[in-house]
Amino acid sequence: MKWLGGRQSENVEYSDGGGNGGGRLLGGGIGATIIGIIIYLITGYTPNQVNRMVDAAGGGREEQITTNYHAEQGSMKEFASIVLAETEVVWDSLFAANGMTYNKPVMRIFEGQVNTACGGASAAVGPFYCPSDQKIYLDVSFFNELKERFGAPGDFANAYVIAHEVGHHIQYLMGTTQKMSRLKGYGERSGPHSMSVMLELQADFYAGVWAHYAEKMNSKDNPVVIEPGDIEAALNAANAIGDDRLQRLTQGRVVPDAFTHGTSKQRMYWFRKGYETGDISQGDTFSELAN
Ligand SMILES: [Zn+2]
Repeated sequence: MKWLGGRQSENVEYSDGGGNGGGRLLGGGIGATIIGIIIYLITGYTPNQVNRMVDAAGGGREEQITTNYHAEQGSMKEFASIVLAETEVVWDSLFAANGMTYNKPVMRIFEGQVNTACGGASAAVGPFYCPSDQKIYLDVSFFNELKERFGAPGDFANAYVIAHEVGHHIQYLMGTTQKMSRLKGYGERSGPHSMSVMLELQADFYAGVWAHYAEKMNSKDNPVVIEPGDIEAALNAANAIGDDRLQRLTQGRVVPDAFTHGTSKQRMYWFRKGYETGDISQGDTFSELAN
C-alpha cells in the first residue's frame, strides 16, 4: 500500500498530550443520541487490566484536545488520517449514489486513556467506535500490537482496522445500530449468534466494500494505492483477530459462548464478500446468521 503524500482528513482530533496551539476545549457532553454505553471494538480481546469507567454523557470532564496535526507526532498518525480521508471519499460517493449524505465521523487519536460519550476507555481495548458521539477512537500503538502480538503486519492490515471502525459508523448512519439496540437480547453481547457478532461481521463486510472501491480509485488525485498483497494482509488481520483464534492465544481454549466478533473464518468471509462484491446490499449478516 502506498499512502505517503496522500490527503489527510480534516476530521481528526488529537488528545495525546502532544497538542499545543490550535487546541480547543471540548466538553464531555455531546448532544447526541445516547445508545447505551456500548462501544464497538475491533476485537473481543479485553485484558483484565482494562479499566472502563462508565461516565454518563454530559458529566465528562473537560479535556484539552487539539485539532492540528503535528508532524513530529509520528507517521502512523499521518497514516491513520490519510486512510480516514480515503474512507470519506468512498463512502461519500456511495451515499451520494443512493441519494444520501455521508456525515463523516471524527477520529480521535489518543494515548493511554480517553474520555468519550460512551464512557472512559483505555487503549488496551484497542480501537473502537462510540455511537453516542460518532467518533472513532484510536491509539496508534495498537498497530504495533497487531503486528507483534497478533501477527498481522502491514499498512493495509492497519487500514482494515480503521475501515472496520468506519463500518460501525456506517451502521449508525443507516440506523442499524439503533435498530439493534431496540431489539430484545441486545444486552446479550456474546455467543456465536449474538447481535454483537452480526454487527461486528457487518463492520468487516463494510471494510471490504471500502477496499473494493479504494482499489478502483487509484488515480493521480488519489495517491493512496492498493498493491498486490494488501488484501491478503487485511484478510490475515481479520483471521488474526477472530474470537476463536484470540481465545486460543489468550486462554488456550475456544469458548463460543464468549464470542463477540465472530470466528476468524467468519471475519475473513465477510471482509472478502464486501471486497469482491462492493455491493452494500449484500451485507446482511443478520439474516445469514439466523439460519
Ligand atoms: Zn467492531
